Amino acid sequence: MELSKIKGIGPKTEDLFNKIMIYNSDDLLRYFPYRYEVFKPTIIDTNSVDNQVIVGKIVSDVKISYIRKNFTMLTFQIIHNNIPIKVAIYNRHFLKTHLTFNKYITIVGKYNKFKNTFVASNIILYELKQTKVEPIYHTINGLKVKTIKDAINEALKSTDINEILPDEFNKKYELINTTDAIKEIHSPTSSTMLKKAQIKLKYEELFEFMFKVGILKFKNQIFDDYTIKNIEKNELNNILSHLQFKLTNDQLLAIDDIIKDFNDFKRMNRLILGDVGSGKTIVAFIALILNYKMGYQGALLSPTEVLANQHFNTLSDLAKVFNIKVSILTGSTKKKDADLIAKQLENNEIDIIIGTHSLLNDKILFNNIGLVITDEQHRFGVNQRLSLQKKGNCVDVLYMSATPIPRTYALTIYGDMDISTIHEKPSGRKDIITSLHKFDELNIIINKIQEEIDKHYQVYVVASLIEEDEESNLMDINEIESLLKKSLKENAKIGSMHGKMKQTLKDEVMNSFINQEINVLVSTTVIEVGVDIKNATLMVILNAERFGLASLHQLRGRVGRNDYQSYCMLVSDLDSKRLNVLCESNDGFYICEKDFELRGSGDLFGIRQSGDMAFKIANISKDYKILLQAKKDTEEFINNNIENSFRNYSYYKDILAKLTKID
Ligand code: ADP
Ligand code: MG
Repeated sequence: MELSKIKGIGPKTEDLFNKIMIYNSDDLLRYFPYRYEVFKPTIIDTNSVDNQVIVGKIVSDVKISYIRKNFTMLTFQIIHNNIPIKVAIYNRHFLKTHLTFNKYITIVGKYNKFKNTFVASNIILYELKQTKVEPIYHTINGLKVKTIKDAINEALKSTDINEILPDEFNKKYELINTTDAIKEIHSPTSSTMLKKAQIKLKYEELFEFMFKVGILKFKNQIFDDYTIKNIEKNELNNILSHLQFKLTNDQLLAIDDIIKDFNDFKRMNRLILGDVGSGKTIVAFIALILNYKMGYQGALLSPTEVLANQHFNTLSDLAKVFNIKVSILTGSTKKKDADLIAKQLENNEIDIIIGTHSLLNDKILFNNIGLVITDEQHRFGVNQRLSLQKKGNCVDVLYMSATPIPRTYALTIYGDMDISTIHEKPSGRKDIITSLHKFDELNIIINKIQEEIDKHYQVYVVASLIEEDEESNLMDINEIESLLKKSLKENAKIGSMHGKMKQTLKDEVMNSFINQEINVLVSTTVIEVGVDIKNATLMVILNAERFGLASLHQLRGRVGRNDYQSYCMLVSDLDSKRLNVLCESNDGFYICEKDFELRGSGDLFGIRQSGDMAFKIANISKDYKILLQAKKDTEEFINNNIENSFRNYSYYKDILAKLTKID
């Protein structure tokens, strides 16, 4: 129903509603309170400092005092539980006429023992006999909460609310019907009923979401022309015997998952989620080699040239052993060479290609591509990824991500993919020792930098600013560079790099750091996630409070890539509680959880369409048990009904049609 048809909503109010994304009665009914105030009358506890709700009879005149401009106080006395109590409330002078002698009222507030007064924050002008639950709504300027409430009440009277959930799930969990749930959410009759309503609506919302994710996943696996890649165990063992190190258990499990996908009757659509330094790259390489052994070409897509080069160099050594032809294609590949590479790819003369966005070019065609791996996948848009995948008929897809999203969140935002998690770090790795310093301790930092470069190790110094910012007193890159030049000895070779520099220039600086011509690199956060410089042992981050914990953990992961002891020094005068999480832990998954707790999930989810995550009532961190159940149930639901395209479930049939069109 249109908003304008609801009693009491004129054009002006309609505009205001539109501003909070309410366009019809359905939106209105699903504009849920963000919290509830619970009023539970009790007998006063004069020793408590908490909020209390008490009932009493007014037994004095109400005195009004003007304390200063726009600041008034009402005081009066009540009899509560046979004792007289002084009450004060600020800025409610308009209540005076309602607070009449002998009237019973309900007061919400805190008892101040020192002043011997009950300081009220809210007064209800009648005697509350039982617990009352009051919904609280978000609103915007100009739109009164009462208008929202009235409109919702009107809409409730005149709207038919449809059941969305398949009935078997309503029965299975004995859920109340949606109409009752929505009524209860807006005007709760009891805490128990409210809880039931919330569970119903949360489950309903998560069911629909996971249904969509499940359909995407299912569609991904349907393949007209698939071939099973038949990989045998001894192929893998042969590769493993040529590695310089023993893989960790988690690495082996991830490879196991990959082989199962290869050997299965469906296309691989797998995400490898691994903490920094957990060794995702070698897993990717092994997948590429196995894919080659099955007779297919493979591609590895990297977000930057530095990373592509790094991968190329590492893989080339291993590839020689197996006689695999590896090439690299990036923005700086010469036209002549690029043309040749394109031709060789088409003629199957290149087995594995590593590259950047250049690989996505329409001119790049493959002979028989079988595996595409995307590094740091969130840096590429979905369409870009698809374009590479579409260059062949039988393409398995593997993503690698170093953003250690807790599993529960991964389940939702990457729910259409299978996930392998690498937790464990290669053995012999020492935890990075992390410390937090104030700016007046810069000398400690400088001494530490000197100590590390004296040992021929390398150091990163990260600053958040490029140039001096008049308004803040943060240190910018130039300032730091000159301070370091002044304070460090001659063996310090300092280079700097920032985001506004041209890519070729950045690559140049990065390469001098890789070649150890520079041993102290001052930069903004442009140092790439994924850069693997084993000789770096110290990471200094200035104004650390400006970064999220997850980003800080990523940055810290640039060091500690060897068996030497590595260090991370955070410099900040603020926010020590949050930053201390890093000092306590080296576990990216734990840190991410904390980051979610402290800052909410908004930050990380920027990596996927933010709209995807806009739940109206469910909260994926708090309601994760419901989420898991919804995942299980939708999988079963899809399996049972996909054959006949949800013939008996028109709501889901429509969703299916929409999702299929999106292609
Ligand atoms: P990330 O997961 O951050 O991409 P990398 O794949 O770059 O990590 O691995 C980090 C470093 O650890 C690399 O130098 C790699 O060669 C090394 N490495 C990977 N796996 C192992 C292992 N099982 N044992 C020892 N070193 C390993
Ligand atoms: Mg398969």
